[in-house]
Amino acid sequence: MTDSAKRSDNRPIIVADGGTSDNQVQPFQIEGMDVRGRAIRLGTAVDEIIIAHDYPKAIATLVGQMVALAGLLGSILKFDGTVTIQAKAKDSAPVNFLVADFDTPGHIRGYADYDAEALAALGADPDFRSLVGHGGYMAMTIDQGADMERYQGIVDLTGESLSDCAVTYFLNSEQTPTALRLAADIDPVSGHWRAGGIMVQHLARGEEGGPRLLDRNEQENWRRASILMESVKAVELLDPQLDLHSLLYRLYHEDGVRVSDPLDVAHQCRCSRDKLLAVLGTFPEDDLRHMIKDEKIEAICQFCSRAYHFAPKDVGLAE
Ligand SMILES: [Zn+2]
Repeated sequence: MTDSAKRSDNRPIIVADGGTSDNQVQPFQIEGMDVRGRAIRLGTAVDEIIIAHDYPKAIATLVGQMVALAGLLGSILKFDGTVTIQAKAKDSAPVNFLVADFDTPGHIRGYADYDAEALAALGADPDFRSLVGHGGYMAMTIDQGADMERYQGIVDLTGESLSDCAVTYFLNSEQTPTALRLAADIDPVSGHWRAGGIMVQHLARGEEGGPRLLDRNEQENWRRASILMESVKAVELLDPQLDLHSLLYRLYHEDGVRVSDPLDVAHQCRCSRDKLLAVLGTFPEDDLRHMIKDEKIEAICQFCSRAYHFAPKDVGLAE
């Protein structure tokens, strides 16, 4: 039996409910393979995150990709909780720190801390490696509330993209073969930021932590699923005219792809007056005094840029 004859018996299955819209994660599985995947498409959700800061394009692109990654990984959570992804550069790289998180049921946010001068010195269109330098790490933290143990996995910030680092993370920390693509860019028509991503993972008969890819057949299935996924172009991940169902069909129609309920995501920050006050409470008194301006202390949320104002007495300073 030839490959194509075998595949033609597998009728493509896709739930046609009008496709997906922006700000959604679409889980899917490929028929006849132990492969599950997720695709994410962000419109307004990522645009809001980026325009809250005046990020240069290279930084905005990284933040957009990081938020898309947090959405993909966070949507896997089976319980209420938060998934946080951080990338920290070790040396004096232009990007010091990059973070995005996902809070159930579907709240995403993110920001970057960078050195504007060092970034400008790289010129237009710097590559990932020049942005993050060498010797940094990427950490993923899963927090499922006070009753559950907090989990953190860390990998070196290696590779040529955030996707590469995340793939290494899954291979090293979870022994799960993963293929992943992320994209973020300004939509040439609307002028707004968009982000997208897709990942597939090989789960050998659902055996968590079990040996993977021992079976030659499975190995070929996985190779096929990952190669097809890697053929996806950044423009396809971002195109507002191409909904995710059509994209998945384009990639996997020969094998058949089955989608389950999509998950809506939205930009929402978890900052509050109390949280910022708690942060200020960790500052030395001298620092706090230096922050007083017009008899007020201003604290700005790094994630959403919202400003909170406190009276000196709020932070325990005598009048
Ligand atoms: Zn905030």
